[in-house]
Amino acid sequence: MGTDSPNYKILFSPWRLTYIRKGLRGRLECFICQYLRENRDDENLVVYRTERSVIIMNRYPYSRGHVLIAPKRHVPSIEQLDDDELLDYSVALKATLEAIERVLSPDYVNTGINIGRVAGAGLEEHLHIHVIPRWYDYDRYMPAEFDEEEIFRDMLEICLSLRREISNILRK
Ligand SMILES: [Zn+2]
Repeated sequence: MGTDSPNYKILFSPWRLTYIRKGLRGRLECFICQYLRENRDDENLVVYRTERSVIIMNRYPYSRGHVLIAPKRHVPSIEQLDDDELLDYSVALKATLEAIERVLSPDYVNTGINIGRVAGAGLEEHLHIHVIPRWYDYDRYMPAEFDEEEIFRDMLEICLSLRREISNILRK
């Protein structure tokens, strides 16, 4: 992603402020492990669980359809995954990319992994890949005011569509 990208300013998404404030208030627990334990996938915006991985909507997204893919096991880095986990993780990533293409038709997609302790990441020890759909003219679709409830409803809709597509893709 170049800094001249028109989506670059989305990195400063206003709703991320809520996240940062929440993070400052108290100890951050690992929400991936928490979501895996809980059986509230719609409320938690868990898109899909494969045998060894989980795909989750990012609650504080850089763009619409921003998802995280994590192994189910709480490990900080990709070197700690065994071969079965790595294969499952790759299959989950591929299915997610295909589903995002079908549901959201982005112009392009950013993916990235932060490894190690990342200041402000809020999640220091559970490996996850970011998958961020991008549009050249993204601002055109963004409301001037951000209503958290509306954003949640939109995310849930995307979550359910991605879940449907991913289950179709993986059942082939
Ligand atoms: Zn964890």
